[in-house]
Amino acid sequence: MKDYMLKGENKHIFFNHAEQDAVYKAAKLGTKTEGKTMVMPWLPCIRCTNAIISAGIRKLITHKQMIERTDNKWKYELREGLKLLSEAGVSIVSYDGKVGERAYMHGEEWEA
Ligand SMILES: [Zn+2]
Repeated sequence: MKDYMLKGENKHIFFNHAEQDAVYKAAKLGTKTEGKTMVMPWLPCIRCTNAIISAGIRKLITHKQMIERTDNKWKYELREGLKLLSEAGVSIVSYDGKVGERAYMHGEEWEA
């Protein structure tokens, strides 16, 4: 791993995103994803959305307060991801409440 791979936007190019990585790890372990529910604190970007749809995942559970803190630079990705999920028939439930953990996002730490 080279230093330049970890800097700025490069970390989004050289590394798998969390949801994408979860789908790959399920495949590696032989865990069936078809028809399953994925729990995530945020909404998936377009890249992760495609992995979720291809894996046959049918429902996402997200965290409303985390989504509300989304930086403007990600809003296009999340909006387009939502369109793809809707077209694919993936349902989304947004949990509204505290989860009781410290969260870190966009350089800010808060009580999630
Ligand atoms: Zn992603």
